[in-house]
Amino acid sequence: MMDLQEGILYGPLQSRRLGLSLGVNILPNSFKLCSLNCCYCQYGWTHEIYESGQQFADVLPSITEVETAVSGAIDGSIEFDYLTVCGNGEPTLHPEFAAIIELICNLRQRSKKDFGIAVISNSTTCFLPGTKSALDLVDLAVMKLDAGNEQMFKKLNGKTAATSLDSILNGLKKLNKYIVQTMFVEGAINNSSDSEVDSWLESLKSLNPQCVQVYSLARTAASDKIRQVKKSRLEEIARLGRLKTGFEFEVF
Ligand code: SF4
Repeated sequence: MMDLQEGILYGPLQSRRLGLSLGVNILPNSFKLCSLNCCYCQYGWTHEIYESGQQFADVLPSITEVETAVSGAIDGSIEFDYLTVCGNGEPTLHPEFAAIIELICNLRQRSKKDFGIAVISNSTTCFLPGTKSALDLVDLAVMKLDAGNEQMFKKLNGKTAATSLDSILNGLKKLNKYIVQTMFVEGAINNSSDSEVDSWLESLKSLNPQCVQVYSLARTAASDKIRQVKKSRLEEIARLGRLKTGFEFEVF
């Protein structure tokens, strides 16, 4: 299992799409703050699901702390191609998420460094106007969608999640531009079977992503009852996806 990130900045890590990506963690250091409880989470199970981080204002990085960390990275000698807002859970739960994204965009505008800004999100809050406006500002909004029906959504992302697949799809439809990222697993929970892939593709067809990225487990997951899906199956899913949706697909 991966340890939680300890500070606001982490990396940079090499990423196929983003190049050198410097992570920005705007979530607590002591626990995972998330609106889902995914069986494949690399940080382990979510002990309590939260739909907002409002009550954790005292342990979340403040705007000033984020400004200091990000300005230091921009003015310093670390090389990176992307600043990626992600970290210990779901970044959009930070009550100042929109202001933080605006701040990072302004810092970039004033800097001489050339880099992109990305957010990796589980899509549960993109129906909120503030989240939507912030996501529309960044160069890459990487949004999670790994089920095509409510039953599989709950199996993968936690039975206790208050969010529904419907509300996620409705939220994604409001975004101007985004990439869909899908984790496939098999074993006790299997979203890579023919019928589940068909159902997921039906949901995808209602959206308009710039691209769809499919991947499988690379690290120890929260559940020990799921397994990695073979690359050859991911390639098959991508081929079918291109055929049925006309979207660009990438396999990781
Ligand atoms: S949305 Fe991300 S951080 Fe939250 S439980 Fe799922 S994989 Fe983990």
